[in-house]
Amino acid sequence: MKHFTITVLKGDGIGPEIVDQATKVLDRAADKFGFTVTYQRALLGGEAIDATGNPLPQETIDACKASDAVLLGAVGGPKWDTLPGDQRPEKGLLGIRSALGLFANLRPAVIFEALRDASPIKQEIIGDSMDLMVVRELTGGIYFGDRGRETNHGVESAYDTERYSLPEIERIARVAFDLAEKRGKKLCSVDKANVLESSRLWRETVARIAKEYPQVEVSNMYVDNCAMQLVRNPGQFDVLLTSNIFGDILSDEASMISGSIGMLASASLGENQFGLYEPIHGSAPDIAGTGKANPLATILSVSMMLKYTLNLPEAAKAIEDAVSKALSQARTPDIRTEGLREVTCEQMGDLVCELL
Ligand code: NAD
Repeated sequence: MKHFTITVLKGDGIGPEIVDQATKVLDRAADKFGFTVTYQRALLGGEAIDATGNPLPQETIDACKASDAVLLGAVGGPKWDTLPGDQRPEKGLLGIRSALGLFANLRPAVIFEALRDASPIKQEIIGDSMDLMVVRELTGGIYFGDRGRETNHGVESAYDTERYSLPEIERIARVAFDLAEKRGKKLCSVDKANVLESSRLWRETVARIAKEYPQVEVSNMYVDNCAMQLVRNPGQFDVLLTSNIFGDILSDEASMISGSIGMLASASLGENQFGLYEPIHGSAPDIAGTGKANPLATILSVSMMLKYTLNLPEAAKAIEDAVSKALSQARTPDIRTEGLREVTCEQMGDLVCELL
């Protein structure tokens, strides 16, 4: 029987509530699909600051490295907002991603049939379906390049540098092509090659890697056009491959098409399929402890973990199906709709388990 060790970082605000529902669903999937899971708890963000004075204790990094995958709730909240930038909970979040070498961020944007009405995009534009995946480079580019301020002849200026090395582009491109091969076999690489030299290297490299994947149809799109196409015809995309900054912006745009922040999962992958899985929303301190949190984004993050790290695609699909069925029976307050039972975070977790 397969056995996995998962490090659980519950974090702050609604983090503990949503993670408890997700691990409950993972346990149910383990029973059903014949594998076992051991959880090890570690501290991150505000809870780590309170316990140790550090948003990312070394023990947390060690625990994550010693596990098969990491499940994260969310971090942050008003209690820690007045701390200096480098001591805040969010510092722990950026720190853990870089300590674990997580260079690829995967964000699916999917329309659940039961939630079509929640999308801000018109039904006729969404079309029959929308199921796209943004693959964003996470540890390079302008967010990590040279930066600074200088004053010349009394005039102050500031600069940030977009720089990508060939190996950085190659490894993120391979992640995206591997995914496209398993999905709809279409990859659109986003750049600004009409202006930026780094984008020209990006485009050349993607074209070269594409030769290793003859079954994947490749296209290139300028980022400004892509921002427009996402709201004009989102159904045209399967996998979108982007640099760090372009993906930051486009993945938020793409994810909003699906309507609710409480539904959106994400994965951050490193070498050898290791990954950290988390909902894209924050710690929602305004509803923490009220039972109103929607646990489905975290439950869907567990489904991504099964698919991309634990290699159990059937279990992953079963969770996605159970979530779809749950949505047609009951809703948490953030996605409430007339005629359907309103449930708490815990009740939604129970319902998904029941339908799995
Ligand atoms: P947020 O995502 O926490 O909340 C935005 C709004 O969405 C709130 O009204 C909240 O109640 C609602 N919401 C979010 N998730 C929900 C869920 N699962 N179910 C129901 N409603 C949900 O963003 P924010 O308010 O800007 O930030 C709150 C804190 O979270 C801040 O400290 C911020 O720094 C932190 N944050 C953390 C992460 C992370 O851990 N990955 C991401 C974003 C923000």
